[in-house]
Amino acid sequence: MGWTLLTGVPGARGEEPPAQAAYPARLLAELIRFPSVNPPGGEGALAARIVAELDAAGLETRLIATPRLDPNDPPRAAAWARLPGTGDGRPLILLSHLDVVPADPEAWQTPPFAGVIEDGFVYGRGALDAKGVTAVHLAALLRLAQEGTPLERDILFLATPDEETGGLLGARYVVEEYPELLGNAEFLLTEGGSIRPARASLGGGPPVPSLWGITITEKGPCWLELTTRGKAGHGSAPRPDAAIPRLIAALDRVRRIESPIRVLDEVADMFRVLAPDAPREDRVGFASLASSLEKDPAFRRRFLLNPGYNALVRNTISITVLAAGSSTNVVPGEARARLDARLLPGESCEDFAGAVRDVIADPAVEVETLLSFPSRSSPADTPLFEAIQRVADRLDPEAIVVPRMIGGFTDAHWFRERQIVAYGFVPRWLGRADTGGIHGIDEKVSVENLVAGVDTLVAIIRELDAPQVGPPPANEAPAP
Ligand SMILES: [Zn+2]
Repeated sequence: MGWTLLTGVPGARGEEPPAQAAYPARLLAELIRFPSVNPPGGEGALAARIVAELDAAGLETRLIATPRLDPNDPPRAAAWARLPGTGDGRPLILLSHLDVVPADPEAWQTPPFAGVIEDGFVYGRGALDAKGVTAVHLAALLRLAQEGTPLERDILFLATPDEETGGLLGARYVVEEYPELLGNAEFLLTEGGSIRPARASLGGGPPVPSLWGITITEKGPCWLELTTRGKAGHGSAPRPDAAIPRLIAALDRVRRIESPIRVLDEVADMFRVLAPDAPREDRVGFASLASSLEKDPAFRRRFLLNPGYNALVRNTISITVLAAGSSTNVVPGEARARLDARLLPGESCEDFAGAVRDVIADPAVEVETLLSFPSRSSPADTPLFEAIQRVADRLDPEAIVVPRMIGGFTDAHWFRERQIVAYGFVPRWLGRADTGGIHGIDEKVSVENLVAGVDTLVAIIRELDAPQVGPPPANEAPAP
């Protein structure tokens, strides 16, 4: 991808990125070389490397040892740093995570943990999720530190282990055991939202402006385990009330559950913004999502067939784990299944588990909750949201900034629970083709995205600190 293709990216006018600008790319390549696959994570060495980088810049730092699942696992840790402000504002936290999901080297074109920079991209597991975020946060913090003029608020850098398996031994541990490191933080930025680049319209209409998606809420997980028990015995004499047939009957009812449609305001707003660029037959439906889903059966069918869209308007259940039996001729006495249910804001996992029990309608099937926390939202009418909006306007007057919900979850909720306004937003320009590597193969991020990400994040932090309301002075560069 050429340096000029990111419409609306500052400085992207045909010149090569300056040499010093490659810092976040070099840093990211190095971070990728720590194979912090979770489980077991083993993020300790990576966290220490990051703390050393921040130490060298003279920042106040902490390397926080965090718990392991097994004492034989490699050490785990979080990295923390503080860029002190004048104290006239409350802190902003830059949160990312150090663990990554596994990567099968056989399936990748480049080795997933080699940290290769080639053809303007950094390749490797974590390039997007989320070491690329760590690198941008760190580089932005160092830039602000080098400038020397203190901001009003402290900027806190926090990179935690264990996000990919739920954050209990990472973000939650830090929040509970080291609340003093968060100060009385007001805001937090983390993964979960990005910028869809401006592009030509697919249908030959006017160009589609860039879309800045700021995640203000996430669905809440409600992970359930079903257990059935029956008489163990010989495979030659089957019994209908054995554990496995009972479990299958229960799962057959579970897979037919159709949760009611509920369109949240955030979700309706997001689709309204997407409407002009939707396929022609869906434009009206996107523009008035709630009523179209109710009144237009053809649109409803098309919309719900898209699993990502479907997940934004209802509670969902995926059957993800089955466990029973090990020999063809032995009837096992127990069978288990796990369900990954995701609930809309305002729903309770306890009620949902009760509804699942009612649908199964078999008292011999135990339904137990493995993990749940309620979905929480942050308001969109805050100085941080406004700062992002103004920076977007300056970079690209056509840009659309929209608050949104995502179907997955990040560590943001641990902080929303503490009344910190947490947004899932990293300023990086990602089209659909760019995000396929997240939890997939050949994960990569462009060097120009990292460079523009640092510039834009610094601009947002400065804007939050000293809002430039009104038109910019005529001689101001259009870019950070
Ligand atoms: Zn992530």
